Parts: sequence; C-alpha cells; structure tokens
Amino acid sequence: MIGKGTKLYSIFRMKCPRCHEGDFYKGHPYKFSTMGQVKEKCDKCGLKYSIETSFFTGSYYVVYALGVALFVTIWVLKLLFFPEAGPGALLLTIFISLIVLSPLMYALSKIIWINFFIHYDKNALKKNFVTSPSDSTTKK
Ligand SMILES: [Zn+2]
Repeated sequence: MIGKGTKLYSIFRMKCPRCHEGDFYKGHPYKFSTMGQVKEKCDKCGLKYSIETSFFTGSYYVVYALGVALFVTIWVLKLLFFPEAGPGALLLTIFISLIVLSPLMYALSKIIWINFFIHYDKNALKKNFVTSPSDSTTKK
C-alpha cells in the first residue's frame, strides 16, 4: 500500500527521503543512546541530511502538530468508547500517551520535516555512483 517512491514510505520506514534506501537515524527511536540522532548523510546516495545550520529546528512545528493530532485522536476515542469518563481521565491518558510516544513523535517530526524539502529521486543511487568523489578515488 505504501510503496517505495512515496513520502509515506520514507516517513514510516525512516529512510533517506531522496533514495529511500539509506537509514535516516543512527538507531531505533526508542534506543536511548541514539534517540533522535540523524545520520550526517545517507549511506547509499550521499545526501547530506542537515541541509543548512539548524535545519531540524523547523521540525518543532511538526512535533507540535503531531501532539495536537494525538490529543484530538485520544479525545475522539474517549467520546466514542468512554463518554462517561471525566476530564481527569482524558488528561491522564494524554499525558501517559505523550510520554510513551514522544521518542517516536520526535523521530517522525524530523523525517516528516525533511520530506517537505527533499523529494524522491529514483536515479539518486546512480547519480551518486557517478558523481561521488569517494567512488572515483576508489576506482583508480
Ligand atoms: Zn539516500
């Protein structure tokens, strides 16, 4: 359903937004030692992930939107399945959900943010093979 070449593929598999092959993060979102750490560049196509200084600061807008979406989702689920539950239960559920899901939302925010600016290129791997300085030096 979410095929290679779509933004959703890059976002949910946390792959390079240009080639959809290389990993975007150094580790799993819930691995504390590498939590939220983006690789410097793509291992496969060589794309430099931090396009400019403080590039990922803009991802705060995305994580805010994800937080609001989480709040609305929990609120709607409460109305549908537990309409008699009070506002305290809603707040507690939202608070616990935010704590549990924050590493994932933080990771998603950065990959969503970079996907606004970088588009899939099916020839990215070939281009890198031709133009990368490291490739040309290893062939000699
Ligand atoms: Zn790549």
